[in-house]
Amino acid sequence: MSGFHASVLTLYPEMFPGALGLSLAGKALQDGKWSLDAVQIRDFANDRHRSVDDTPAGGGAGMVMRADVLARAIDHVAPPHDNRPRLLMSPRGKPLTQARVRELAVGPGATILCGRFEGVDQRIIEARELEEVSIGDYILSGGEPAALVLLDAVVRLLPGVMGNDISGDEESFEGGLLEHPHYTRPQEFEGRAIPDVLVSGNHARIAEWRRQKALELTRARRPDLASGLNGKD
Ligand code: SAH
Repeated sequence: MSGFHASVLTLYPEMFPGALGLSLAGKALQDGKWSLDAVQIRDFANDRHRSVDDTPAGGGAGMVMRADVLARAIDHVAPPHDNRPRLLMSPRGKPLTQARVRELAVGPGATILCGRFEGVDQRIIEARELEEVSIGDYILSGGEPAALVLLDAVVRLLPGVMGNDISGDEESFEGGLLEHPHYTRPQEFEGRAIPDVLVSGNHARIAEWRRQKALELTRARRPDLASGLNGKD
């Protein structure tokens, strides 16, 4: 098998491919441009109750996913010779960036562990060298929506997935800037016209206008991104 292969470890395999079975990602999945298996973690429990979690050491609320069960699941889908990165979706992780998404998209795929409850036993993170990845500073009830977000961002970059390969390079973040605003017909909407420059036919002026707007937007909304651009404009 060629292309990007994702293995997702989850207590809810029914959530996959989910939204990724539709539209561009779904078509690409059907066409074999990427592949996905969603593996039920519970299948690797070995007690009568098939338990995957237990109470936290030291006390407190909630449950913690067991390291031994997770180790069996991980070793099953990603044996030691498997060179795909092993990711753990986690609010404590490094925030996902377009740069990391690009790296993943040129690689062989990923094994993605989705947490539930209070999260996973720390020892599985260390013992299997999991890379913790966050999709933002908020708490989800489980890692599955985060895995879908990460995969959506990766899959659209795979060769042949986006109809127009150029558009990928002009998106927000790709040049370190947020993208300029877009307009389309009608020429006038509720008294608001499309900016003259965009209908001028002057491609140099249009490019300059877009770059200016991108800079203004980035400075106003994301000074953290804009700070890296000083001197470049
Ligand atoms: N007690 C944890 C939160 C657990 S939320 C804490 O306070 O840090 C349950 C699971 O949802 C996590 O194990 C993780 O897999 C997933 N999750 C929640 N928020 C996330 C986020 N922002 N990014 C990625 N995964 C997240």
